[in-house]
Order: sequence, then C-alpha cells, then structure tokens
Amino acid sequence: MAEVLVVVEASQAAGVKKVTLEMLTIARGLGEVSAVVLGGSGAAAQFAEKLGEYGATKIYAGEGEEVDGYLVAPKATAVAELVKRVQPAAVLIASSQEGKEIAGRLAVKLDNGLLTDAVELAADGTATQVVFAGAAIVKSKVTKGLPIVTIRPNSITPEPAPASPAVEQLTVVATDADKLTKVVERVAEQKGSRPELTEASIVVSGGRGVASADNFKVVEEIADLLGGAVGASRAAVDSGYYPHQFQVGQTGKTVSPQLYVAIGISGAIQHRAGMQTSKTIVAVNKDAEAPIFELADYGVVGDLNKVVPQAAEEIRKR
Ligand code: FAD
Repeated sequence: MAEVLVVVEASQAAGVKKVTLEMLTIARGLGEVSAVVLGGSGAAAQFAEKLGEYGATKIYAGEGEEVDGYLVAPKATAVAELVKRVQPAAVLIASSQEGKEIAGRLAVKLDNGLLTDAVELAADGTATQVVFAGAAIVKSKVTKGLPIVTIRPNSITPEPAPASPAVEQLTVVATDADKLTKVVERVAEQKGSRPELTEASIVVSGGRGVASADNFKVVEEIADLLGGAVGASRAAVDSGYYPHQFQVGQTGKTVSPQLYVAIGISGAIQHRAGMQTSKTIVAVNKDAEAPIFELADYGVVGDLNKVVPQAAEEIRKR
C-alpha cells in the first residue's frame, strides 16, 4: 500500500494537537500512514504512543538543533528530502500558520501543486476546500506532482486505529538559506486552566458588544463555569478587549466545539467562517435582527450584562 506522510503538529506542552489526529484519520483512507515528527530532541518518543493510537505505522523523526533552532524552513527541507526518498502518495500538513508555511516551501522545493484549507480528502486526491469565508465549497486536485494538502483543524472527528509505529531517525541538514532566521528565545505560552481554543469542546466568545476589556470577565466567568475556552470576534480583538490569539474567524482560529456561545457578536460572515460547524450554537444579542440568530440553535435577545450574569447564577446552582 502507498505511504502517506502526515507532518505532525504538536508541542511539548500541549502534546499532539487534535488536527494531527484528524490528519492521521484522513490519511488512513489514502494508504499506509507515516507520521513525520520535526522538533526538539526526544519529540518522537514523547508523541509516539498517541500517533500509534491513531494509526501511524511508522514515525520519521527529525530532531534536534538543525530542525528546531531555526524558523520553519529546515522542516520544509526535511520533508522535501523525505518525499524524494520515499515517494509517498500524498503529504498532509495542518492548516496552521506554521503548517501552511511548511506546505508552501515544500511545494516550491518539489515544483509541486498545493491545496490549502481542505476539510476532506478523497482516496483519489480530490480535496474539498471551504472558500470565501465558508460561502462556497470547491473540489480541487493537484495536477502536478503528488497531493500536498493542508487540512483545516476541526474538519472531522478523529477515530483511533491502534498501531505500533516503528521509529526511523532522519538526518536533517539545514541549508544556508534555511538558517537565515534563527530562534533566539522560546517563551512557553502561559497555560491557564482553560482548554486550548481549537481543541475545546465548549467555546464562549465575546464580541464588540462586551464593550471593554474589563467586561470580558463576564465572558471568562461563563467559560470557566462551563469548563470551556474563551474566544473573541475580530472587532473585540481590534478594540483591545482580548488578545489576538483568541480571535475566532476567517483570519483567526477555526473552532468546531460541541457548544459555541456567542456573546455580543453580530455574526459577520468572517466570524461565522471560524465557528459555523459548531454542533450547538447559542447567541446572546440585544438586537433581534442580528445575523448570528440565523445560525444559532438557541438565542437570547437581551442585554448581555443582564443575561450572562443570570445564566452564570443558574449554572452555579447546578
Ligand atoms: P459588531 O458587528 O459590531 O457586533 C456587535 C454586536 O453586539 C451587535 O450585534 C450588537 O447588537 C451586540 N451588542 C452590543 N451591545 C450589546 C449588549 N449590551 N448586549 C447584547 N448584545 C450587544 N471578524 C471575526 O470575528 N473574525 C475574523 O477572523 C475576521 N476576519 C476578517 C477578515 C476580513 C478580510 C474582514 C474584511 C473582516 C474580518 N472580520 C473578522 C470582521 C467582521 O467583518 C466583523 O467586523 C466582526 O466579526 C464584527 O465583530 P462583532 O460581531 O464583535 O462586532
């Protein structure tokens, strides 16, 4: 069976990201799954169990300073060398900021086609892409080379398929061009008690209607009571109410939780692009005509400063 490479998205602190498990699940429909771990020393050993749980039968481990000491570029070099050697049927990479850069560089190095933001990938390499902020769906195929496809987080539900992966060490030699940008310091993101936004099963997001950074406490409180992550609309982020890394939408993160609560968010198409596949959507907005209500399963028309504390009170009683 043809080999399919999955470039692993993971971090030492958070472990293997859910999008990686989604890619492993998708890759199983295309061939024999090999995971490519590119990171610091010991990364493959740290992630091997999880990767095996979701069907990786082989792990290629490119580890150490040559990979990890520079920004992104050596990772693309490592994958390109591997592709030339093993001639896989496809390469799957996460549609994250780093993943897209690896994919772009890889496609250039191999003079190969590239598809980004796929939500499905058929066995014949046809990718389903969501475009124009979710307004249209396109089916596309790479016409030159092998399918190099980036997969959007939260596209599918990952399914385990236990395997015992063999680990093969890769010798990665970063080129001079790869070494043009160097990592000078790593500061681990403060890991609070809340789940990671793109992986959370409950997300509570606030918009411009929250009206101030201070008032975002209302959003945080309900998120904490529900054990969820906090998100924000771009208007809230641009107004300085909440940090950028929590932005949900076309130019932010894509979430697909079991429950999405939109507080003081109008429901612009660019916001919907990042949350419309959520299983159940609850909206709180004082404007009964707000477009978010077209999408919501449950809506409360009212002032968030009254509705949300009341909801919090009710949850606390349970
Ligand atoms: P608004 O549209 O101003 O809505 C605020 C809502 O709060 C209103 O519906 C109002 O009725 C309600 N409200 C006000 N006060 C209260 C109250 N006291 N109680 C209850 N409700 C109240 N946006 C994103 O979110 N994510 C993106 O990734 C993103 N990417 C973009 C990319 C591009 C290229 C462009 C052009 C735009 C992008 N946007 C994005 C911006 C998007 O178009 C909207 O401007 C933005 O989503 C609006 O945010 P909002 O709903 O918080 O604010």
